[in-house]
Amino acid sequence: KRVGYAIVGIGKLTAEELIPAARTSEHAYVAALVTSEEDKGEAFARAFDLTGEDVYTYGDFDRLAERDDVEAVYIVLPNSMHREYVERAARMGKHVLCEKPLGMNAQDAQAMVDACREAGVLLMTAYRCQYTPEHWAARDAVQSGQLGKVKLLDSIHAQVEDDPEAWRLKKDLAGGGPLPDVGIYSVNIVRFVLGQEPEWVFAALHQPQDDPRFREVEESVSAMLGFPGGVIANILTSYGAVKTTTLRVLGEKGSVLMDPAFPYQGLKLTLTDEKGELTPSFPSYDQFGLEFDHFAQCVRRGQTPWTPGEEGVADHIVMDAIYESARSGQRVKLQPPGKADAFR
Ligand code: NAD
Repeated sequence: KRVGYAIVGIGKLTAEELIPAARTSEHAYVAALVTSEEDKGEAFARAFDLTGEDVYTYGDFDRLAERDDVEAVYIVLPNSMHREYVERAARMGKHVLCEKPLGMNAQDAQAMVDACREAGVLLMTAYRCQYTPEHWAARDAVQSGQLGKVKLLDSIHAQVEDDPEAWRLKKDLAGGGPLPDVGIYSVNIVRFVLGQEPEWVFAALHQPQDDPRFREVEESVSAMLGFPGGVIANILTSYGAVKTTTLRVLGEKGSVLMDPAFPYQGLKLTLTDEKGELTPSFPSYDQFGLEFDHFAQCVRRGQTPWTPGEEGVADHIVMDAIYESARSGQRVKLQPPGKADAFR
C-alpha cells in the first residue's frame, strides 16, 4: 500500500516540481493539500485527482489527524514556519518530511528533532542531492580512495534574487540570505562526500548598504570549513551573482568536478584519476520522486531515513558557526559531532 502524503504550502516548488514528482512515485501519493488560498488549493487538488474535501487551510491543519490515509506530512513553507508545522504534525502522530533548511538555526532544528522523537514519528530533511546517483558517485570516488588522499574541496551555489519583496530576503521568514537557502547545498554536500563533520569554520560576508534587497540579509558569503586531517573546503554563495552550482574535490591522485552540481536535472560529473577522465552517464530520475519514495519506504518499514532531522541540525551547526565567524572575525571551533545536547 502506497503512503499518503499531505503537502503543506502550495508555492513554486509544490506547483512546479512536487506535483509532477508525485506522479513518478512508486511508493507514495498525495492524499491532501494544505494552503491558505482555497481556490488555488482546489485547482491543485484537481491536478492530483483530489476533491475539495482533501484541501485544508492552515487553520484546519490539525483536522488531518482524522485522516488515517495521511501517514506523512511534507512541509514546503517559508523556513520560519517549518518548526511550527513539523511539531503540529508530530503531535498528530504523522511522519514528517521537511524542506531545507530544517529550521532557523541549530537550536530550532534540534527542537524539531526532539519533538518528532518524543512523538515517535520519523523526521526527514529533504536533501534531494543525497539521493542522486551523481552525488553518490562523487562520494564513492572520495571514500574509496580513487582520488588518493583528499586535500581540498570547493563548492559554489549562487543565483540572482531580484524581487526585493521575496520572503527569502526577510530575516524573520528566511533566517538568513543565500546561505540557508542555496549555500546550504554546498555545506551539505561537502559533509556528504567526505562523510565527516568540520572541526572549525572561518567566514566573511558582504551585505551592501545601498541595495534595498539586502536590508535584512547578506548578499554573499565565503566560508572555509576545516575537516579532520587538514582537509579544507571553501564554500561560496550569493544572491547577487549569476546562477552557478559547482562542486570540486581534489585528491593527491585525482579529482571530481560536478558542474552543474545542484539543479533538479542535468547534473554533470567528471572523474579524473590516474587512468584518465571519465564522464559517466546515469539513468534519468526525478529527485523529488526519489525523496517521496525513500521516505514512504521508511514509513512502511519503520526505518530512519538516510537524511534524518539530525542531518538538518548538522548543517545548521555549521551555518550558525559561519555567521558567528563572519560577525566576530574569528575562526570558530565546532563541538565534535554527537554533542547535539549542547544546544538544549
Ligand atoms: P514559495 O514562496 O514559492 O511558496 C511558499 C508557500 O508558503 C506558498 O504556498 C505561500 O502561500 C505559503 N506561505 C505561507 N505564509 C507565507 C508567508 N508569510 N510568506 C510567503 N509565503 C507564505 O516558496 P518555495 O520556493 O516553494 O519554498 C518553500 C520551501 O521549500 C522553503 O523552505 C525552501 O527553502 C524550500 N525549497 C526547496 C527546494 C529544493 O530544491 N529542495 C527548492 C525550492 C524551495
